[in-house]
Amino acid sequence: MIIAMKAGAAPEEIGDVIRKIEEAGMRALNLPGGDRTVIGVASSIPADVREPLTELMLSLPGVDHVAQVSRTYKLASREFHAADTIVDVRGVLVGGREIVTMAGPCAVESREQLLAAAKAVKSAGGKVLRGGAFKPRSSPYSFQGLGADGLKLLKEVGAEVGLPTITEVLDQHEVELVMEHADILQIGARNMQNFPLLIAVGQTMHPIVLKRGPSATIDEWLLSAEYILNQGNPNVILCERGVHPLDRAYTRNTLDLSAVPIIKEVSHLPIIIDPSHATGSWRYVAAMSRAAVAAGADGLLIEVHPDPKNALCDGPQSLRPETFSALMDDLRRIAHSLSRG
Ligand code: PEP
Ligand code: MN
Repeated sequence: MIIAMKAGAAPEEIGDVIRKIEEAGMRALNLPGGDRTVIGVASSIPADVREPLTELMLSLPGVDHVAQVSRTYKLASREFHAADTIVDVRGVLVGGREIVTMAGPCAVESREQLLAAAKAVKSAGGKVLRGGAFKPRSSPYSFQGLGADGLKLLKEVGAEVGLPTITEVLDQHEVELVMEHADILQIGARNMQNFPLLIAVGQTMHPIVLKRGPSATIDEWLLSAEYILNQGNPNVILCERGVHPLDRAYTRNTLDLSAVPIIKEVSHLPIIIDPSHATGSWRYVAAMSRAAVAAGADGLLIEVHPDPKNALCDGPQSLRPETFSALMDDLRRIAHSLSRG
């Protein structure tokens, strides 16, 4: 439920509305934006309470109208928050005019490998360096990442080339450690519904990239974002990375590009696309990246490796530096034609 106050409503009238909501045992939020105050009820409202609460709100001085929120998520919805959210990653703004490309290797393997990738990303115009230290691998026999050593390398190399960094946090007990080393915490597709982890990152103010689970609906994904927002962290960036594929013979996942305009309509959160995990093949990464920008995505998360053939993780879907650089030229042209930087 949203209570819209009349323009010029007195602070006491606003305070009264908030108090009455809290007296009914619910959480009231003073929502930003516009020339008048809007108050949201950030709790699920029992069916027998909805009508009397609506009546009560309408009877209070200063209240203009009451609207019911049609979505199960609230803080993530456009209804609650009309203006686009812009997430500030050490001066790189995600969700604004500029399209932000985050790129780098799937996994940090060595200082040399990461530095070569980072230089390629920086010189091609990438804005954030990616590199996995804790890797969620399907097989326990696959390379699991360098762990804390990988985090250190990511921090050092990011500082050396002058790029903020993103890396995945797998476990709620490692949030602090990862935060000390990276500027964005990535919640991987497999962890989209790891609720203790969502709550833990929600209790920080660090930017979060929340990947869509391979079988998650849009509503489930936004409810996961809601877990983070509800803890007080507004800095959530959504990332579509493909859903369970119809035909694995050709692609690893199926990129749901319609998620971009849908998210833009129903939510205020920025959305980026990961064409690397979506397709699983470097051959299709450029086409899907161009399509993502054309569809209105706020950014991309792309795997780039100086030597994909010898990569310890996801080599087949990683771009070589030259291919990445050519793609970035294309993306700039598309962005420019859409009046985005
Ligand atoms: C990744 O980006 O490193 C990754 C593991 O991706 P996802 O969670 O989308 O599979
Ligand atoms: Mn990968």
